[in-house]
Amino acid sequence: MDVAATTTPAVLILLGPPGAGKGTQARMLEDKFGLVQLSTGDLLRDAVAAGTEAGLAAKAVMEAGDLVSDEIVIAILRDRMAQPDCAKGVILDGFPRTTVQAEALDGLLSSAGQKISAAISLEVQDDEMVIRISGRYTCAGCGEGYHDQFKQPAEEGKCDKCGHTEFKRRADDNAETVASRLAAYHAQTAPLIDYYQAQGVLNGIDAMGQIDDIANDMQGLVREVMN
Ligand code: AMP
Repeated sequence: MDVAATTTPAVLILLGPPGAGKGTQARMLEDKFGLVQLSTGDLLRDAVAAGTEAGLAAKAVMEAGDLVSDEIVIAILRDRMAQPDCAKGVILDGFPRTTVQAEALDGLLSSAGQKISAAISLEVQDDEMVIRISGRYTCAGCGEGYHDQFKQPAEEGKCDKCGHTEFKRRADDNAETVASRLAAYHAQTAPLIDYYQAQGVLNGIDAMGQIDDIANDMQGLVREVMN
């Protein structure tokens, strides 16, 4: 594992449309650099499964492929970032998704004496995203990601990472919802590319190639910003 030379914890933001590979790359960076992946999508799915007030409010919005309210998402993220494991440094996967969220994150970090190490934009094409999303599934045991076309377990039906034999697909990974999710990305999240460019922390990565090649580029970049 690479060790961070900095004393303040790293804060990495992964930007990109649904299906760009944010989750896959975040997990690989987590393993490699000992950071903590924070996915607001995962936190919201957990809240839905647990039937919390936030989960009940978010469920229908997520099923429609729209964005959950800033208020709910910021509260969930703030609570999670306050947990001790986040002191190791975090990879934000799927947050922020609006300018209001980006400004809330800036406020949260500055009150903790922290700042953004890098915002990494995974650059992809929309038509490819539909293919990527409709074929993806995860291990029900450890959450490792797979794809019908691009990444099958080495032994059919058995997770490479934990050996579990059950897998699951997300309810919102269907062609109709994907269209809404892409539209929400372009309308509300893509403007954050300029937001982080203006802060001088934006880095673009070509995310159209093979998972391992993209991971190499990402790791090179993260190594640079963490040293
Ligand atoms: P994801 O797992 O990142 O693709 O997110 C799945 C769904 O959760 C999105 O389509 C949104 O409905 C909701 N969601 C996740 N993160 C956010 C966020 N930062 N702001 C608003 N909604 C979010």
